[in-house]
Amino acid sequence: MEEKIAKLTENCTAEISAADSESALYAVRVKYLGKSGLISELMKGMRELSPEMRPLMGKIVNEARGKLESLFAEKGKALHESELAARLAAEKIDITIDKAHPVGKLHPLSAVRKRLVDFFVSMGFDVMEGPEVETDYYNFEALNVPKDHPARDMQDTFFIGGNTLLRSQTSAAQIRYMENHKPPLKMISPGRVFRNDDDATHSPVFHQLEGLVVDKGITMCDLKGILESFAKHFFGQETKVRFRPSYFPFTEPSVEVDVSCAICHGKGCRICKGTGWIEILGAGIVNRKVLRTCDIDPDEYTGFAFGFGIDRIANIIHGIPHIKLLYENDIRFLKQF
Ligand SMILES: [Zn+2]
Repeated sequence: MEEKIAKLTENCTAEISAADSESALYAVRVKYLGKSGLISELMKGMRELSPEMRPLMGKIVNEARGKLESLFAEKGKALHESELAARLAAEKIDITIDKAHPVGKLHPLSAVRKRLVDFFVSMGFDVMEGPEVETDYYNFEALNVPKDHPARDMQDTFFIGGNTLLRSQTSAAQIRYMENHKPPLKMISPGRVFRNDDDATHSPVFHQLEGLVVDKGITMCDLKGILESFAKHFFGQETKVRFRPSYFPFTEPSVEVDVSCAICHGKGCRICKGTGWIEILGAGIVNRKVLRTCDIDPDEYTGFAFGFGIDRIANIIHGIPHIKLLYENDIRFLKQF
């Protein structure tokens, strides 16, 4: 019987070391140490031994069992660790930054446009984006620019045919808005506009943002208040605003609006061309004819409108020397913002 035990122990030890997975090791364990395993079977045979032999054999079997138990534990731990390591290696995901595929960001124009819209929305303005392909009526007629009006020459327009054109100003959206909304109203219209104008300082496509407020008792003071908040928000708290008389067909009176130069604080520099002031937009009190066209009584309501180039504001904020850079999509340029 002693021999049998020695033989079983030897076989079991060999099978333990041959086991190459946790499940294979478990099968070996069941085979030898399980309830009806080989060692248990051996124990049953003890009944046939003489009473004085039983304790001795019991001791030998228990020693063998103890030795095998520790071999199982040792091998089990090793297998568990190597299987875990293999699984982790197989499931490995590299969560570090992939420098070969950098994350993109907003184009400076989009980022500035978003900031501008956020600012006016925070002041209660509604946002409307009109169509880029417009009719002559919305782009000109309704804005008090009838055919043969000299103001049409100020905007070299792309005509598509008949009365259809690429809008030359976002003001067209104001008319559409006033057709469907009655005062009091506050709206802005940001978007792309097109003019047949292409040189060092002009791009055939650029972006405007128009604003319109119509209510009882609206005056130039309201316009100046809004524009001052706007200028201070984007160009700094020290910024001053000045109005210069101007002419637009859809506003009367009309003004050009300048802000004090944030770079030189009025002393004169390259950005402000030595004047200390930077022209940023055109504005004025909505022409009575425009209100009447939209079925709003100009004796009851007044309003102001303003419009500026988003490109120009982006250039001023970022110190970009000319508009063309915004449209070349040179990654080296865009990366700077
Ligand atoms: Zn300056």
